[in-house]
Amino acid sequence: MSMSYTDFSPIRVAVVGGGAAGMMAAYSAACMGAEVTLFERNDRLGKKLRITGKGRCNVTNDCDRDAFLSNVPTNPRFLFAALSAFTTADTKAFFEDLGVPLKTERGNRVFPQSDKAIDVVNAMKRAVQDAGVKIVTERVRSLLLEEGEVRGVYTEKPYLFDRVIICTGGKSYPLTGSDGDGYRLAAQAGHKVTRLLPSLVPITCEGALCRGMQGLSLRNVGLTVKDNATGKAVYRDFGEMMFTHFGLTGPMILSASAHLPDIAPGKYTAYIDLKPALDEKTLDARLLSDFSKYQNKDFLNCLGDLLPQKMIETVVECSGIDPRKKVNSITAVERRTLGALLKAFPVKLYGFRPIDEAIVTKGGVDVGQINPASMQSKLVKGLYFAGEVLDVDAYTGGFNLQIAFSTGFLAGQSAATD
Ligand SMILES: Cc1cc2nc3c(=O)[nH]c(=O)nc-3n(C[C@H](O)[C@H](O)[C@H](O)COP(=O)(O)OP(=O)(O)OC[C@H]3O[C@@H](n4cnc5c(N)ncnc54)[C@H](O)[C@@H]3O)c2cc1C
Repeated sequence: MSMSYTDFSPIRVAVVGGGAAGMMAAYSAACMGAEVTLFERNDRLGKKLRITGKGRCNVTNDCDRDAFLSNVPTNPRFLFAALSAFTTADTKAFFEDLGVPLKTERGNRVFPQSDKAIDVVNAMKRAVQDAGVKIVTERVRSLLLEEGEVRGVYTEKPYLFDRVIICTGGKSYPLTGSDGDGYRLAAQAGHKVTRLLPSLVPITCEGALCRGMQGLSLRNVGLTVKDNATGKAVYRDFGEMMFTHFGLTGPMILSASAHLPDIAPGKYTAYIDLKPALDEKTLDARLLSDFSKYQNKDFLNCLGDLLPQKMIETVVECSGIDPRKKVNSITAVERRTLGALLKAFPVKLYGFRPIDEAIVTKGGVDVGQINPASMQSKLVKGLYFAGEVLDVDAYTGGFNLQIAFSTGFLAGQSAATD
């Protein structure tokens, strides 16, 4: 049988979105021989990637697959094949090979040795370009669909392709370009998009308690979040947090938010252990010693050695002890009440800040309509999804970027070969 020239022409793949997932998808599809065009609405690639990990980019988490999946609260099983196709070890090797040496920090978090997210962005950009990917800085407005198959994308004009991979990210930090376009494209193709919620997001609190301490950052404190109805602890952590005009933020709070998807006014209280290194007995001895040192002062003026200045007034108020009471007349019961307050300073949680301020979007393209072995749509032939646009999200620690890399790699490979 004779073959026409077109039988050998490469598969034309469009990747929509030049973030973590899109760059990886474009790279892997091009490496598999496809002719790849990467559409990015910004004038440069990886705008969100640049600000990840406070500008340091926590590229992955150096753990095994089971440990990884235990850090994915939404649809972990969907990621099984993707995480096998491109593992955390593959991510490390990928960047090391591209000349970005890495280091592993506390909690298996992997960062570039340079502590510069821009090194990660530049390396990915180089990989994409060297693989022969064509970059078009245009916003994809709709998909070209025909008879249940994808035929291309439409920006200001139509572009024809055999396969399209949607990697448009979530809806958070919209100034980076990820403002939810992908959900509209998915809906146009008939896909269900689950409810979009913020995750890894600052938390608002009841009353004006936090406002009085805004700007105060606490390091090395303990945090326990309890369900008010059951009294059960739903989250415990140790580390850093911050008071703001609306409530609480900082690494521990963002992590806690992912464990409180059903947050509502009155449902949860955060208890801050301000002195985690001291047990109650030792703390009481410390209070006794400070009280004897400042015995002739007013109560309001005796906590300077124990607490940051910005917290004293609030703690004194919460203790119920008269701020003008002389320290030498504070009773043992009052002292113990104060000790208990320092070990479990309560802040009533109210809700989440808007999705714009979230690190990731919870919810997205329903994974029940996507083949987990290829990332291809079960509804539209030739259409693929990867990254945060999917209904998967994880805790902090490099897991979200790894999800983008793994699903991106698998989608690219599948689109080029299916
Ligand atoms: C402040 C911050 C810090 C973070 N730090 C970390 C971290 O250290 N480690 C970690 O694992 N995760 C981190 N994350 C989460 C992580 O950045 C995301 O989960 C990840 O970037 C998702 O990758 P993505 O490729 O799916 O989407 P994105 O990286 O958001 O990329 C989507 C791209 O698509 C483009 N796009 C959107 N719509 C269109 C369209 N219609 N046409 C063309 N282009 C379009 C966008 O401009 C964007 O460039 C952080 C997030 C934030 C906001």
